[in-house]
Amino acid sequence: MGLASALRHVADLAEIRGEDTQGANWRRAAEIIDTVGARGTTRLLDRLRRGHDESDVDMSTAVRTQLREVALGGADEIILAARSSLPRLLRRLFDLNAITSSQGVALARADVLTLADLTAALDDGRIARMGDEFLLGLRRAAEALTFDVQPISLGRAWDLLDPLLASLAMECPAIDVVVPSGDVRRVEPLVSSLVLVGRASDPATAVDTLCLLPLVDDVLHRSARRAIAVVQWAEMDVRIAAPEELGSVLFETTGAREHVRAVRARSGTIGSAADEADVYARAGLPFIPPELRQHVGDIDAALDGTLPPTLVSREHIHGDLHMHTSYSDGRDSIEAMVAECAALGYEYIAITDHSASAAASRTVTPDQLARQRDEIAGVQERYPSVVILHGIEVDILADGRLDFADDVLQHLDIVLASLHEAAGHDGERLTRRCLDAIRHPLVSIITHPANRLVGRRGGYPLDFDAVYAAAAETGTALEIDGAPSHLDLDGDHARAAVAAGVTVTIDSDCHRSSALERQMSLGLGTARRGRVEPRHVLNARPLHEVRAFIARKRRGR
Ligand SMILES: [Zn+2]
Ligand SMILES: [Zn+2]
Repeated sequence: MGLASALRHVADLAEIRGEDTQGANWRRAAEIIDTVGARGTTRLLDRLRRGHDESDVDMSTAVRTQLREVALGGADEIILAARSSLPRLLRRLFDLNAITSSQGVALARADVLTLADLTAALDDGRIARMGDEFLLGLRRAAEALTFDVQPISLGRAWDLLDPLLASLAMECPAIDVVVPSGDVRRVEPLVSSLVLVGRASDPATAVDTLCLLPLVDDVLHRSARRAIAVVQWAEMDVRIAAPEELGSVLFETTGAREHVRAVRARSGTIGSAADEADVYARAGLPFIPPELRQHVGDIDAALDGTLPPTLVSREHIHGDLHMHTSYSDGRDSIEAMVAECAALGYEYIAITDHSASAAASRTVTPDQLARQRDEIAGVQERYPSVVILHGIEVDILADGRLDFADDVLQHLDIVLASLHEAAGHDGERLTRRCLDAIRHPLVSIITHPANRLVGRRGGYPLDFDAVYAAAAETGTALEIDGAPSHLDLDGDHARAAVAAGVTVTIDSDCHRSSALERQMSLGLGTARRGRVEPRHVLNARPLHEVRAFIARKRRGR
C-alpha cells in the first residue's frame, strides 16, 4: 500500500475509534502526500525527521505532528498501533480479513462495536444496505468469533465492574444512575461481555468525563452516548443514556437477544422510554425482571399471569446460613465475619466450616469445634444484634455416611451436608449418597446439591426428581449457593425444586467478609432466575421458624 493509502487507512481506524478530528487530520496528511508527489514526500519527511518545522506545504500543527510520527516511525508502525487499540470485534474482523477499513467505519457508524452489536445488527436490519455478499461474510465471521469468546465468571465480572462503579460514583456526579447490564444483570453464571448503562442529562459531556477517569487505561471507541473503555485489561461497554431513553437502552442491552427480539416483535419497535416498564407496556406485557429474560417462555408466562408477583429479594433475607472462617479454608476470623453480617443487618447467621475429610485447604476436627463453640460465645456477647448459630458443612462420604459421628453433630445448632467428592461414582450412586444425607435426621440443608463448578464442571448427574421428593418429604432444605464458582442449585433446578415443594436456602458460602453481601446477591439472582418466591426460602423467615424447621426434622416430625 502506498503512503497516502496507508494514511487513509489510519484515518479510517481513527474514525472507527470515534476520533473524527484525528481522522480528518490523517486524511489531510494523505492529501498532502498525494499533492507533493514521490520526490516531494521524501523531502518533506526528511525535513520533518530532522525537526525542521518550516515547510512550503500548508498544514496545521496537528497534521505536521502526525506526519512527523510517520517520518520517525513509518506508517506500518502507526497502523499496527492503531489496530491494536480498536474494539476487539473490529480487531478480530480485520484479523479475519472480513472487512476493509472503510467497512469498519460504516460498522462503527452503525454502532456495531461488539460481538453482541454485530449479532443484533445482523438481525435488526441496520446494516442491511451494506450488501448481501458482505453480510454473508460477516455472518460467518460472527459465528467464528462466537467460538473465541472466553467468558469470565460472574464473580470476576463484578471484581472488574466494582472499581469502575465506585469511580463513576465518586468522580462523575453528572451520571446519576449506573446499572450493570447485559449478562451480569441477568445473573448469567458466565459473562461474555461487560456492559454498564448510565444516565446523564448531557450524555456527551458525561462520556468525555468518564473517558478521563484514572482507572480507564484506554478508550477504544467513543461517541456521544458510548465509550468502549479498557479497565484492568478488560473491555467495558459503557452506554450513557439521556433520561428519556434510559429504560429502552437498559432493555436492549440487558438481553437475552431472543427476549429482546420477541418483545420487539410484539410492539413493532422499541422506541425511547425513560422506564423499562414502558417498553413492556407498549408490547402489552407486564414488567419482566432481568433474571427472567432468558427464554421466550418467560414472555408466555408473563402473558398467562403465571410469573410470581414477588420474587425473593434482599429485603426478604433474614440471615445467611453458610459461611467459612479461618477455622477451615475461610480467610477471616469468626469476629470479622460476624461484624460484617451485623453491618448487613442480618438477624442470624451460621458459621459452617468444613469437616475433617473435606478436600479444603484446612478443615476442623471435633476438638476444634469445641474451641470454636467457645469463641462464638465470646463474639456473640460483643454482637448481640445477630444470633450466631454454630454449624458445620459436613462432607457426605463415599459410602453415604457423614464425615462426623452423630454425637458430634447433635451438639451443633445446624448441620449442612455436601457432596464435595464424586469418588468416581456415577449419577445413581451419587444420588444414593445424597439421599442418605437427606434422610439423616441431623442434616438440615444440602449445600450446592449438584456440586457444579461454573465453567469447569456442569454438576453431578443426580436424579433430581428423587432428590427433590426426598427433601420435601423429610423437611430438608436444598441450597442455592451464591459462591460464583457454584451458583447451584441454578435457576432451572431451583425452579423445579420449589415446584416439587422443597424449601430452599439462599446462602453466600462466603470465605471472606468482604464478599458476604455480593455472594448473597448472586445467590438471590440465581434464585430469581428460578422464579423463587420469599415463601419458598428458609432464611427469608425469622429465626424461631428456622429453629423450628431444624427441630422438626431432628424430632422425626
Ligand atoms: Zn461446599
Ligand atoms: Zn461451603
